Amino acid sequence: MAEWSNTWTWIDGEWIEGNPPVIGPRSHAFWLGTSVFDGARAFEDVTPDLDMHCARVNDSARALGMKPTMDSARILELALEGVSKFPKGAELYIRPMYWAEGEGLSTVAADPESTRFLITIYETPMPAKDASLTLTLASYRRPTMECMPVNAKAGCLYPNNARALKEAADKGFMNALVRDALGNIAELATANVFLVKNGVVKTPANNGTFLNGITRRRFIQLLENDGFTVEETTLNYDDFFDADEIFATGNYSKIMPVSKLDERDLQPGPVSARARELYWNYAHGR
Ligand code: PMP
Repeated sequence: MAEWSNTWTWIDGEWIEGNPPVIGPRSHAFWLGTSVFDGARAFEDVTPDLDMHCARVNDSARALGMKPTMDSARILELALEGVSKFPKGAELYIRPMYWAEGEGLSTVAADPESTRFLITIYETPMPAKDASLTLTLASYRRPTMECMPVNAKAGCLYPNNARALKEAADKGFMNALVRDALGNIAELATANVFLVKNGVVKTPANNGTFLNGITRRRFIQLLENDGFTVEETTLNYDDFFDADEIFATGNYSKIMPVSKLDERDLQPGPVSARARELYWNYAHGR
């Protein structure tokens, strides 16, 4: 395994450098997957929507039956304190987390009183400005709310996404369009997804089967303010296959145009370029 990049972690009141061990064989999170996280970015000395990511991790903890121990304003303060430990302009991933240590009702449910918190921050480069994604359709699907806690940003949801990514990689693609249980497109394995057709921007309606991303909502607002029509609607694979442009949004890369969907080549287009410009202006307070 490669070395970890520069990392600082706040746990139990102190900052620790590197990758300190934090759970043991008896920890509920390790055994039964009771953990949640959020992911935000620092780059070019800005941290767009960091406050919302710090608030969402508390919502995720509650959705998984844990008891958040930190005020979201305090998480934000810690995040900024952690960022200041790195060189100016460092490209960072900021990840607050909660997990459960102890067993609760019937062992399988965690003890909410055993909820623990950390925030880990590490160097991870932002993708190049001209980077793009290639996509294929995943055979794996998003679970519904009845099947999995899709209202939380929880680690337990990601092995399914990993299956879709592995399947895509085996076919020579970088990411995958993932459908919901009804067969409509929900999102990518690691990001939300948009298409552009005849100048109209469309994205799958927030139907509760996928993360209604903070970056997704930010791009919708920025594009609408810029005069675009953005439709949140039901979209199927053919809608994407016939699109003029496709792009993905998420905290990690912010926006990535799609250059290929299965056998169809696409060009990174003017709407995704404009959306990127709008986001960077927003991030820099311009
Ligand atoms: N969907 C999935 C599966 C993700 O992992 C992410 C990134 N966390 C997103 C969507 C985008 O969400 P956000 O913009 O809130 O980071």
